[in-house]
Amino acid sequence: MSTLGKIPATVITGFLGAGKTSLIRNLIENANGKRIALIINEFGDLGVDGDLLKGCGDETCSDDDIVELANGCICCTVADDFLPTIQYLLDREKRPDHIIVETSGLALPKPLVRAFGWPEVRTQVTVDGVITVVDGPAFRDGLFASNPEAVQEQREADENLNHDSPLEELFEDQLNCADLIILNKSDLLSEDELASAEAALKEQIRPAVKLVKTSHGKINHSILLGLEAAAEDDLDVRKSHHDETDDHEHDDFDSFVVTLPNPDTPETLVERLQKAIESHGILRVKGFIAVAGKDMRLVVQGVGNRIQHYYDREWQDGETPTSQLVVIGEQGLDEQAISALIRG
Ligand SMILES: [Zn+2]
Repeated sequence: MSTLGKIPATVITGFLGAGKTSLIRNLIENANGKRIALIINEFGDLGVDGDLLKGCGDETCSDDDIVELANGCICCTVADDFLPTIQYLLDREKRPDHIIVETSGLALPKPLVRAFGWPEVRTQVTVDGVITVVDGPAFRDGLFASNPEAVQEQREADENLNHDSPLEELFEDQLNCADLIILNKSDLLSEDELASAEAALKEQIRPAVKLVKTSHGKINHSILLGLEAAAEDDLDVRKSHHDETDDHEHDDFDSFVVTLPNPDTPETLVERLQKAIESHGILRVKGFIAVAGKDMRLVVQGVGNRIQHYYDREWQDGETPTSQLVVIGEQGLDEQAISALIRG
C-alpha cells in the first residue's frame, strides 16, 4: 500500500533510562518547522517525560501536541487509549506532519504496530519506522536496562499490563521489530566494547536494519525520520516471542456496515448498541443516523462501551436521511447477530 499522503509515525522503544527522551527532545529541537505530535507512554516516571518535553520552549512543540497515555501499557490498552488518541490527532484542525510514539520498553512493539492497521487509521497514517534505543553500558553488562529494579517497579505499577515477559524477551522483541537501532551512551564504552556490542547486536537484528551509535541521544533527525518502512505492512518478518501466544485481543480487525431502520430516538439506538458491544468483540462503532422526525443528522461514535452522539448538521437537499453504522472489531465478528441486535 502506498505511503503517499499518509502521516508518518515513528515508534520509539527501549527501556527506561536508555535515552529515549533526550533523543526525542533533540528531534523536536531540530524539527525545522515540522509539526510533530508526541504520544508518550513512559508511565514509569509519570509526567517527567511530558514535562521535560513541554518545557523545551521550542515554538514547534506546543503543549497540545503532546499526549500522555498514563493508563498503562500502550499495547494492552490499544483500543481504549492509543487508537482514540491517534484519532484525536487526526481530527484536529492542524494535523501533525509527523507523529512520534514513545513507548515504555515494557510494551510489545509488534501489537502496537499492528494497531496501525486499524481500518480508520491505516488509510491516514503509516508507521515510518520502529526505532529501538539500546542502553550501551547496560547491554555490555548483560542487563538490558540501566536500572532493572526501576523497570520492575514500572511493571508492577501497571495494572493493565497483561504480559509478564522477562526483560531479555522484551529486548529481543524490541530488536526484532526495529527498523533502526540506536546504540546510545556509546561514549561510555571503550572502542573494544563498542565493537563487540555492535557485533552482538547485528547478529540479532534483521539484515537490512541499520545500527547507529550515539551519545546523549544526539543524532541528525534525517536519520531517524523518513525511513518509510510502512512497518504495518510487513509484520510477518518481524519475529516476536509472542507470535504464538499473543494474548492481545487486537490481532486483526474486521469491519462491516450495518444499514438500519431510522430509530425513534437516539436513546433507543444507544441501548441496542450497548447490548451489541457487551455481547460481541466490538471495538468501535461509527456512523450517521436519521432519527425519525428530525431534520438534523445524528453522529454516533462508540469506543469501547462509551457511546457518544450529537446532531452535527441538517440533512441537505438531495440527501436521503438514512441510518448507517460501521462496526469494527476483532476478527471473527458475528456480522449477522450484531446487525440483528443493532437493527432491533
Ligand atoms: Zn502491553
